Amino acid sequence: MARINRSSEEACPDCGVRLGTQHKRNCDVAHCMACGGQFFSCQCDRTDSLCLPGKWTGEWPGIAEAERMGLWTRWDKERNKWVKCGPGDEGARADLNALLSLDGIYYWDRSAQEWRRR
Ligand SMILES: [Zn+2]
Ligand SMILES: [Zn+2]
Repeated sequence: MARINRSSEEACPDCGVRLGTQHKRNCDVAHCMACGGQFFSCQCDRTDSLCLPGKWTGEWPGIAEAERMGLWTRWDKERNKWVKCGPGDEGARADLNALLSLDGIYYWDRSAQEWRRR
């Protein structure tokens, strides 16, 4: 089964920034500070001043929650977009943006920069 590497290693596995440093804009791991979704595919209004890649904390915010809810996505090269999938699919990763649609259960706390359960 494909597993997300939830390591606490120092550098971001994608963009390579150090712990506590803001991810680069093209980083796959970066969450959006405004909505908590993945920055590269978040649905924010880009005029939101908080819609920026968050800091690398050694963990992917929301990953544990998304895994628990069974929210997975993978990049579909033919369709050129992210599609829902199962945890065992190649390239599967927890779907942070899907967490947003579960507004009744989890919400993104902008000031704390973490997902919270209602
Ligand atoms: Zn990064
Ligand atoms: Zn956003």
